[in-house]
Amino acid sequence: MNLVFLGPPGSGKGTQSALLSQELAIPTISTGDALRAEVEKKSQVGNMAQQYMTSGKLVPDEVVIEIIKNRIVLDDCKKGFILDGFPRNVEQGVALNEMFDSLQLKLDVVFLFEVDEGILIKRISGRFVCGNCKEVYNKFFKKTNKDGICDKCGSTKFETRADDNEETVRNRLRVYNDTTKSLVEYYQKKDLIYSVDALKSVDSIFQGLIAKVKSL
Ligand code: AMP
Repeated sequence: MNLVFLGPPGSGKGTQSALLSQELAIPTISTGDALRAEVEKKSQVGNMAQQYMTSGKLVPDEVVIEIIKNRIVLDDCKKGFILDGFPRNVEQGVALNEMFDSLQLKLDVVFLFEVDEGILIKRISGRFVCGNCKEVYNKFFKKTNKDGICDKCGSTKFETRADDNEETVRNRLRVYNDTTKSLVEYYQKKDLIYSVDALKSVDSIFQGLIAKVKSL
């Protein structure tokens, strides 16, 4: 089962791909996570990518295409995989299509997460995680029970992503809107899009995804 999760930052793709990965026992491949790991390692790719990421721009296509090319041939992808955050534009979609053709793989469905932009901005700019157990919180929607203390592990250290500030978020959404529209049309023509109302509860979205996957 090879799936693409498409949607703006903060639409809940990450949460759902983690749940579905577990359910189907297939990995999630997130180009955002892969790039952040490179930035952390201070590798050449990471140093280059960082400049784009901190301003909310897209990292050059050849960099992310290379990441995906090397990743989907690994053993744990034999039963399939979920792509989260890739492709982001038509060029990447075409490159993915070529990879699939050469590996004789098929893209089963593209889940399109749709959500109101005002809510997205709060979802992303309010996002923070526990520095210890990585539990995710939000200063608008999901505060800690006790101020400054993680509900789950009691840690008092929290982290925010450098690119989750409001200005970068607005830029990331602009980039998303500019580049993804034509990608959605590209997949619509291939009849692969399945729309997801990303404002529903986590469980109800998840049940919808499972039902769709089972119907394939
Ligand atoms: P994400 O975690 O998916 O929101 O990605 C964070 C940042 O990584 C984006 O704002 C881009 O700068 C970069 N990035 C992630 N995936 C891609 C991609 N497929 N193409 C280009 N840049 C990407």
